Amino acid sequence: MRLNVITAFLAGAVLSIAAIIIMGAGGTVKSPTGTAPDRYAYYPGTEDLGKDEIRLIACGTGLPAARRDQAATCFLAELGNGDKFLFDVGTGSMANVAALMIPYDFLDKVFLTHLHTDHWGDLAALWAGGWTAGRTKPLKVWGPKGATPEMGTAYAIEHFLKAYNWDATTRNYFLSPEPGKISVTEFDYKAVNAVVYQKNGVTIRSIPAIHAGDGPVSFILEYAGLKVVIGGDTFPNKWFIEYATNADLVIHETFLTPPDLVRLYGQSPGQAIAVGTGIHTSPQAFGKVMSTIKPRLAVGYHFFNEQATHDNILRGVLQTYTGPLSLAVDNMVWNITKEKITERMIVSPDQAWAVNGPNKPPKPPAKGSVPDPISDFIKAGRWQPAEQAQAPMVEKFKKENGLQ
Ligand SMILES: [Zn+2]
Ligand SMILES: [Zn+2]
Repeated sequence: MRLNVITAFLAGAVLSIAAIIIMGAGGTVKSPTGTAPDRYAYYPGTEDLGKDEIRLIACGTGLPAARRDQAATCFLAELGNGDKFLFDVGTGSMANVAALMIPYDFLDKVFLTHLHTDHWGDLAALWAGGWTAGRTKPLKVWGPKGATPEMGTAYAIEHFLKAYNWDATTRNYFLSPEPGKISVTEFDYKAVNAVVYQKNGVTIRSIPAIHAGDGPVSFILEYAGLKVVIGGDTFPNKWFIEYATNADLVIHETFLTPPDLVRLYGQSPGQAIAVGTGIHTSPQAFGKVMSTIKPRLAVGYHFFNEQATHDNILRGVLQTYTGPLSLAVDNMVWNITKEKITERMIVSPDQAWAVNGPNKPPKPPAKGSVPDPISDFIKAGRWQPAEQAQAPMVEKFKKENGLQ
């Protein structure tokens, strides 16, 4: 290893250590038979949230192409007042959300930065999965209008429901149709720092983003005197610089370096430079944003985070920023208060079931009120030996549960 590379590595190591000291949780072990203060892990559902605290969870930090260890964009903000907000539900992210074992009734508010699949591709999993797993009410989606109605969130959701017509129509017979509904609140993507949500001490604002076409935005969440910025896909823009200043935690994309886009993503050099520095944010540009707005913690995401890409991005960021930094992976969690920001990793089960919430599931529609989606022709094809084989089990279960 040449000396200048070693120096760059050491600079990175020093920075990482400084950041960890600032953010580290835990304390001393007081007894050999007691518990060890946890420094590294958050086990979902095991900690109260302080009234003036925000727990922010990276449920997806990757790219549109599927990858088992990194889903596409999704951040969940849990607030001390009980509110929870999903910011984007990118492809694959709902598996990480589900592993948090939060009742689906608490996951009914979704804010979309834009309509690329890596930011809303798993809405289907939240919509239908939540419907079958305990959500009792409609899903609520907030998202930007487009330059024309066909490029906006309302159009997307209307046609999402049309695309899933067979799914909804067949579920509506066996389940309550209510949780299968989606309400949409659209707002102007050109509105600068405009309030798009305000309730229970929570304010969410929107600023325009510069990315691939008109429509994308970033969100600013304010609660209990804390400010968290959830940057959607964008080239660094003047609105972000102005309104993300004085934030506690700022998430902003930092894209793969152009050489890595060529080497790993198979892009041509022309495409790599256009995508990586035109409609996304290069590591150097990300660093410039953060050294200008100086958040308590800067979070970069939106790249497949492995040793080589991580180091290449870190080297680029260090050219323009040396403050507290996290390059996010899935299941990173930040607890944010006025006093400190703690970063840990989530430890959660791969096989979690949904946990029931406080609300009783609504009843399915009364027999005859919704057309039976299975015809007599199809019903007449039921194979009798299978009916006979299961009959004793069915009888026993019905008897035990008082079913007719
Ligand atoms: Zn995008
Ligand atoms: Zn994206």
